[in-house]
Amino acid sequence: MASQNPVAEAPNIWGIAQSQFDHAADRLDLDEGMRRVLRVPQRELTVNFPVTMDDGSVQVFTGHRVQHNVSRGPGKGGIRYHQDVTLDEVRALAMWMSWKCACVNIPYGGAKGGVVVDPKMLSIREVEGLTRRFTTEISPLIGPDRDIPAPDVNTNAQTMAWIMDTYSMHRGYTVHGVVTGKPISVGGSLGRNEATARGAVFTLLQASKALNVPLIDARVSIQGYGNAGSIAATLLAAEGARIVAVSDSTGGIHNPSGLDPARVSAWKQEHGTVVGFPGSDQVTNQEILEIDCDILVPAALENQITKHNAPRVKARIVAEAANGPTTPEADAILHDRGVFNIPDILCNAGGVTVSYFEWVQDMQSFFWTEDRINDSLKGIMDRAFEAVRTMSERHAVDMRTAAYMVAVARVAEATMLRGLYP
Ligand code: NAD
Repeated sequence: MASQNPVAEAPNIWGIAQSQFDHAADRLDLDEGMRRVLRVPQRELTVNFPVTMDDGSVQVFTGHRVQHNVSRGPGKGGIRYHQDVTLDEVRALAMWMSWKCACVNIPYGGAKGGVVVDPKMLSIREVEGLTRRFTTEISPLIGPDRDIPAPDVNTNAQTMAWIMDTYSMHRGYTVHGVVTGKPISVGGSLGRNEATARGAVFTLLQASKALNVPLIDARVSIQGYGNAGSIAATLLAAEGARIVAVSDSTGGIHNPSGLDPARVSAWKQEHGTVVGFPGSDQVTNQEILEIDCDILVPAALENQITKHNAPRVKARIVAEAANGPTTPEADAILHDRGVFNIPDILCNAGGVTVSYFEWVQDMQSFFWTEDRINDSLKGIMDRAFEAVRTMSERHAVDMRTAAYMVAVARVAEATMLRGLYP
């Protein structure tokens, strides 16, 4: 009998990352030796480290930091705390960071980290202890010129402040640039909180021009109403789009006449869910993907658009604010049906781009205005969209393949020009 468990059916994420790379490498006719180099991570560190718990007992946790490729600059990538973290997952996420940074042409390589822990089962003090000891254990790899972590699943600005402080304590002076996504008062950047959604909206503005699908009154459905999804809703409504459906982990809401994002956010703040918002019908998280709309923004989890629902997606444009929301089989179905996909490594790269601005500001101890940050972000996102679209037209490939081709070619060029040492 076929498994009903979506996790059991979920494809191996590292296998997917490598096959996406193989596909781009084939299209680029990449040299065999270069394929061998780029197909695997350059460095992997696994650490088992003790933490004293509040009851006095000692627990040992396992964590990883992986650098996929650092030919274009220091490694960059988040640290996640989750009970399901595996080395293979961290490898895939590190490889994707190499492609994401190269796709938007910021001078970083790809890295990622993770600790196998459910932080909701720990006290704040225990999470702080775990963070400080993990930072110490991976300190041979990280640093503002070597590898710069950032928040990811279940880590946040406070976690980054603890990492920055721990690293700085070892050095004996403050090193702001060792992590990004910090609170503003300890070297964080204006605009970072909105950056992922703002970057996604910049790519949508470009797509709307290219496809002649005006954003004014475009019907938008958004899966996930957290940082990326809720801010994307606000920014898209400001562009004149009509947000017809949104969801969070508890379910979704639909109103074909349009939902007011500010009022939905206030409702969610008060009730802990978007469900029950006055004047809306309740829909499931699967229905939200298939709703009648012009633009679909997956902004929650990976593997949401699959071969099962892709034939019923009605949107003309899918903007991947989330990482990995579309499976490779669904990609092919959407492409055949003429759905225009703005792939994750392009669409959600606004976050890492403003992280790059944060690091530049930290290194110079000179902080920019929010206008300068948003203008610089627009320049980078617009150029990246243009590079990917040109590649897609020149080689008659879909936007994801084109984004990978742009990114892999840049990483391969840097790796080739530097040569093999010794
Ligand atoms: P978040 O935790 O702020 O929000 C996630 C939202 O998804 C929440 O509203 C949650 O309720 C909802 N959700 C969880 N499970 C769901 C389910 N089964 N169905 C529908 N909704 C569900 O996270 P975020 O920072 O907004 O990240 C969302 C996605 O965007 C992730 O894939 C993340 O990797 C990606 N992303 C975020 C950033 C960033 O800077 N925040 C950058 C790049 C990529």
